[in-house]
Amino acid sequence: MSHNIVVAIDGYSSCGKSTLAKALAKKLHFIYVDSGAMYRAVTLFFQRNNINIEDMTDVERALKDIHLNFHSRDYQTHITLNGEEVSDEIREMAVSEQVSEVSAIKAVRREMVKQQQRMGKSKDIVMDGRDIGTTVFPEAQVKIFMTADPKIRAERRFKELQLKNSPVTLEEVFENLAHRDYQDTTRKESPLTRAEDAIILDNTELTPEEQLNFALDKVEPFINSRQQK
Ligand code: C5P
Repeated sequence: MSHNIVVAIDGYSSCGKSTLAKALAKKLHFIYVDSGAMYRAVTLFFQRNNINIEDMTDVERALKDIHLNFHSRDYQTHITLNGEEVSDEIREMAVSEQVSEVSAIKAVRREMVKQQQRMGKSKDIVMDGRDIGTTVFPEAQVKIFMTADPKIRAERRFKELQLKNSPVTLEEVFENLAHRDYQDTTRKESPLTRAEDAIILDNTELTPEEQLNFALDKVEPFINSRQQK
């Protein structure tokens, strides 16, 4: 392989980033990494171990005790925290409510970014998150910045949570998304922002298939040019 291809997908909460990233990775046989799952797993660890996020000594010590691993089955994210599968638990509201505060901590970001960069070093990869095109892989060949109407986003997320029998209301989901968007765009450490060279994809009125085709159009030239080398 002459050069690995990195696709960075960033955007607001519940914009369908992971749906698109998974479909794209599956189609192209790339590795898919859900960077949000990493911040969620760290948050879960902090909650379970009562880590005081104001105390950086506590935070640094806790980070050393966290070992995350991804197992991809059918392009679904399976993440383990110190060997325990936590993929479902990290999606619960208790984690969603605190994850943006945890992910704003410099030491947390430094550690996660290091691990993410290692994963994309020599492999073709699709990674979704908030700072992938700006901080993790500023050299990514393809950068997509996703957005969608906040009401539509909340409804989509609410439906997903209902399927899991979560007792949460649509208003709570809407509030949580607004809160995370605010925290993620205003934090000091690599805030969510569109990389200058990222292509905007507003999927308010697009089907998953249309989004996939849009992304494939952007990635295929890089695959073709590599094959010609
Ligand atoms: O992608 P997801 O919504 O699961 O991410 C959960 C949270 O993790 C986000 O709201 C954000 O606070 C944080 N995050 C981040 N940087 C990333 C991915 C996620 O700060 N690259």
